[in-house]
Amino acid sequence: MSQETSPSEPEAQETAVETARRQLERAAAHLDVDPGVVERLKHPTKVHQVSIPLKRDNGETEIYTGYRAQHDSVRGPFKGGLRYHPEVSADECIGLSMWMTWKCAVMDLPFGGGKGGIVVNPKELSSDEKERLTRRFAQELRDFVGPMKDIPAPDMGTDPQTMAWFMDAYSMQQGETIPGVVTGKPPVIGGSYGREEAPGHSVAIVAREAIDYYDWEIEDTTVAVQGFGSVGANAARSLDEWGAKVVAVSDVNGAIYDPTGLDTRDVEGHDERPGMVSGYDAPQKLGNEELLELDVDILIPAAVGNVLTAENANDVQARMVVEGANGPTTTAADVIFEGNDVPVIPDILANAGGVTVSYFEWLQDINRRQWSLDRVNKELETQMLKAWNAVRREYEARDVTWRDAAYLVALSRVAEAHDARGLWP
Ligand code: GLU
Repeated sequence: MSQETSPSEPEAQETAVETARRQLERAAAHLDVDPGVVERLKHPTKVHQVSIPLKRDNGETEIYTGYRAQHDSVRGPFKGGLRYHPEVSADECIGLSMWMTWKCAVMDLPFGGGKGGIVVNPKELSSDEKERLTRRFAQELRDFVGPMKDIPAPDMGTDPQTMAWFMDAYSMQQGETIPGVVTGKPPVIGGSYGREEAPGHSVAIVAREAIDYYDWEIEDTTVAVQGFGSVGANAARSLDEWGAKVVAVSDVNGAIYDPTGLDTRDVEGHDERPGMVSGYDAPQKLGNEELLELDVDILIPAAVGNVLTAENANDVQARMVVEGANGPTTTAADVIFEGNDVPVIPDILANAGGVTVSYFEWLQDINRRQWSLDRVNKELETQMLKAWNAVRREYEARDVTWRDAAYLVALSRVAEAHDARGLWP
């Protein structure tokens, strides 16, 4: 298997785009695809950079930088979130947009990959400031987005309200209500029921299938979840409901640990009460780093990227990693996990429930017809199982990791589409 990085190489600087390119090269080595197509897929189609002036509540004007990276649209409009975070960069957006291309392809959705964001700490803005920033961002991106062009969604630091402001600003300028320009909206304006829970729910579905694949019993499975926001809390709660023992969860301030299992419904998520997880009464408090090294069956990193690295991968005692966050495992950590026989079920499959229900939302918007929560959840389950089985078949057919297997499914679909459409001119 071709590997560019050995565990001993320094990797502190690995950016999302570097990780994404290395993963693509690894997968491409297993497939008979046109090298020209692979080369093309290492680069985004377009990256938009905009300046967003914001009048702060104190009357001062500040300029923020925003991006929208559009990776590939061969299978349909660009699709992916907008994140508000101080570490947003063009490179990060490009890497994340590449992952969206694979995520949509692995789920067989008629979308390509996009990702954008603003370099800002949203916690330092008032709600009014966030609204003005979002509306102006929507205006700056207006020519590049649209239901048939590029459809943003929530990501780190953004939520259904952010999407509502974006959709309103876009619609006002277009002179008509266009709900399909973004997904992840509140259901009252064309959002889908079940969208907020979907990424976490899909992490749980995929973890459940993996438990079954390895012949474990869900009742005997212990789980640690890093990050108790929308992804982590929903993953933990679904697994808890299905009988798994969630022994540790964390937020930015630290982790709580109860070897007999936590009542995950009782712990308030980051979205419900920010920063409160570590305040919960539990037998033991741990640091976030310690949570990653707990002796559990499944570790679910569901916070930020690059948390499993060459430095700590050998200390991870979990028997399996299921990625809730986007890009939580560096290339070097992946190599270590492979050597240690720790399966890593990749983000592009595990958390893909989010974009899948975004697709359902887009269909509902285009058809002006809302689905019931029951229908959304049933269709999500079907789509997740279809994708899981496609990835499992590749995993079983070749001597590859789960990540490679997911990439093989995605890349062959994207490459086939490029082949069919050809290069113009
Ligand atoms: N931001 C989410 C992700 O990373 C969802 C994207 C979407 O729904 O378009 O998958």
